[in-house]
Amino acid sequence: GSTANLNADEDNINVVVRVRPVNDKERSLRERHMLEFPGKGQIICHGTTPGQKPKLFSYNVVFEPAATQEDVLEYSGIKRLLEMAVEGFSCTAFCYGQTGSGKTHTLTGPPGLVESGASPYSEDHGLVVRSFVYLFQLLQDRPDCHYILKASFLEIYNEKVIDLLNPGNSRKPLQVRWSKESRSFYVENLFMVDCEQLDDLFAVLEEGTRNRAVGAHAMNAHSSRSHTVLSVRVRGLVREQRGVACATHGKINFVDLAGSEVTKRTNSTGKTLEEANNINRSLMVLGYCIAQLSDGRKKGHIPYRDSKLTKLLADSLAGNGVTLMIACIAPTKSNLSETINTLRYAARAK
Ligand code: ADP
Ligand code: MG
Repeated sequence: GSTANLNADEDNINVVVRVRPVNDKERSLRERHMLEFPGKGQIICHGTTPGQKPKLFSYNVVFEPAATQEDVLEYSGIKRLLEMAVEGFSCTAFCYGQTGSGKTHTLTGPPGLVESGASPYSEDHGLVVRSFVYLFQLLQDRPDCHYILKASFLEIYNEKVIDLLNPGNSRKPLQVRWSKESRSFYVENLFMVDCEQLDDLFAVLEEGTRNRAVGAHAMNAHSSRSHTVLSVRVRGLVREQRGVACATHGKINFVDLAGSEVTKRTNSTGKTLEEANNINRSLMVLGYCIAQLSDGRKKGHIPYRDSKLTKLLADSLAGNGVTLMIACIAPTKSNLSETINTLRYAARAK
């Protein structure tokens, strides 16, 4: 059926939590597990200090450590976002959480996989490649319609937008501008790649991931301090019953956010502070926009203009499409305070 009219009963924000497995270091230290999964969509988080009561959180879906990449595709709700992008809506999926919690793993799999030239059907691939595959299936199911896909891949570091597909010009930042015509923000001179087949989308992901790694090498802990946004525009020329062609302009954004811990751990001086403030601002504004959205009262002022990230996501956050938040957490004690912060941020969005 058509999703052209959003069902009022269905939320335009879907919040899921993914818990990564215990890693080798945590295992060798015999770190305590802090989480329990009592029922569907529920997490109990145990406190650190004696006497602190365990706290129950609930979400649309919780992926326990044994969940596979395929489970995330099937049960996160991402398929609905992709279907809506094909129908002409702007949708966003983003991963939120502290550094090391599994954001990048969830989106693009283990380190180096995408750059290794693995087949798009490798089982380790994350949500992005799986979504590409599903997107092409959707388009193949609609042989009477013609679709044009264009992909872009950018990074926001310290409130500067860098094109990951064209990082030349010594990573010269691009400007974010407002288009009166389309009534949305856009990035001036951003490279857009025409993608006629799955391999083309895959190549965009690979190229951008490589370029991100180059930037990360030049700057310590860079990847934990930058946001990346991979966008696929889906333009459709849909033939209607009376032979009239009507255009749809949909979009899906995949966002790998900066580590949510950054502000507290950085020193409060000079450049680091500016950097931390910028990251913090993006995450705070994003959290605020999403909380407003989930309230269903869209009349209040939503401060999209307050960060580059929210400007670029404004059309999907504004409620025209659906937003999927994947909150990523670690199960062990040393991560507890960040885990609680993430669970709270995610609960506010719900
Ligand atoms: P983040 O992007 O949030 O900083 P990463 O995605 O880089 O975190 O994850 C940190 C490490 O843990 C990586 O080596 C990653 O492959 C691994 N990891 C994260 N989530 C999982 C998972 N669900 N299954 C297996 N390994 C995981
Ligand atoms: Mg990462």
